[in-house]
Amino acid sequence: MPGQHALLSASAAHRWMHCPPSARLTEDIEDTSSIFAQEGTVAHSLGELELNYQLKNIPKREYTKELRKIQAHELYSAEMPDHVAVYTGYVMERLAEAKSRSKDALVFLEQKLDFSAWVPEGFGTGDTVIISDGVIEIVDLKYGKGVEVSADDNPQMMLYALGAYHEYEWLYDPKSIKMTIVQPRIDNISTFEMPVEDLLKWAEEELKPAADKAWSGEGELQAGDHCRFCKVRSTCKARADYNLTFIESKRDEDNTLKGIHLLAPEEISRVLDMALEIKNWLKDVEENALQAALDGTRYPGFKLVEGRSNRVITDEEEVVATLVMEDYTEDQLYNKKLKGITDLEKLVGKKMFEQLLGPYVIKPPGKPTLVPETDKRPELNTAADDFNLEV
Ligand code: SF4
Repeated sequence: MPGQHALLSASAAHRWMHCPPSARLTEDIEDTSSIFAQEGTVAHSLGELELNYQLKNIPKREYTKELRKIQAHELYSAEMPDHVAVYTGYVMERLAEAKSRSKDALVFLEQKLDFSAWVPEGFGTGDTVIISDGVIEIVDLKYGKGVEVSADDNPQMMLYALGAYHEYEWLYDPKSIKMTIVQPRIDNISTFEMPVEDLLKWAEEELKPAADKAWSGEGELQAGDHCRFCKVRSTCKARADYNLTFIESKRDEDNTLKGIHLLAPEEISRVLDMALEIKNWLKDVEENALQAALDGTRYPGFKLVEGRSNRVITDEEEVVATLVMEDYTEDQLYNKKLKGITDLEKLVGKKMFEQLLGPYVIKPPGKPTLVPETDKRPELNTAADDFNLEV
């Protein structure tokens, strides 16, 4: 179902269950797929193809043709097949186990799973669903390696499980749901199993009320680690308040002189605990503000300037040849590789350096940077300014 995207998607369930209004707040903001997400899509295509071939769903000729297409993708890499093989191997192992219990066990790949009975217009795509007597098993490939993802009480997996239950309940009378995340690049295989009745209880008591609120844009904005992938993470006031008021709200009741003026070890522990979230938040705000400034937004007290940059040698061979002609020995010019610009400048003197090596050294333009207006560097003309001049 290319291009179709549910407002209350399974992959964002952790966010909209904790912060229901975030769903409507972000619905009109364009999705920008990161390079990591695109790489994950290539790995998923490879996993699906390998499984279809191993399950004899496609002939060798089709397999080879499709494999070549995947290999031609710019984000395909030499190590991708080994990582994906961990996932496909796990699926084949689980399928063999399911077949040993019930001969007519079924496996579905990239299956659309409809959980709209609990979540308005809710659907998602399960990488692998295995159905056998009494057990539904979901296996999800996660190709990222930034954050280890656990299957324990994972709402994305539980939503897939609900979709699979809804679809296949009549077939095998499932009693238990087994959910596994395979994250091969960091050796993480995480499994969580729960009785179907617990899954349905969670769906009625926790999921459905949160989904109804999220659908109608009600509830409280609530910041936390789930803000990480939210599309308004850099401009959200609730997230800003959460980070800015953190230290004040967490101060211990200690009215001694030290207690009033100095942070206690327990308070520092809490700051350390929050450090990653605060760093991520600052990075999000800075990146967003820089892009907006490049697009023409002006921030009071700030301006865009060219960032600092370092000189680089454009032709190492010519630099060496020039200095050897001037009687410098190779020992003087090299450590293990050619010495850096500052060392060479010290060696030959600033004036001679400019005279002899000037043609082989450039200073590339620095990246645009947002700095206080008091900074001495001249303000950059943005593309937006140029455009305004033309009209
Ligand atoms: S950034 Fe966080 S608090 Fe703000 S809307 Fe998104 S999830 Fe909610």
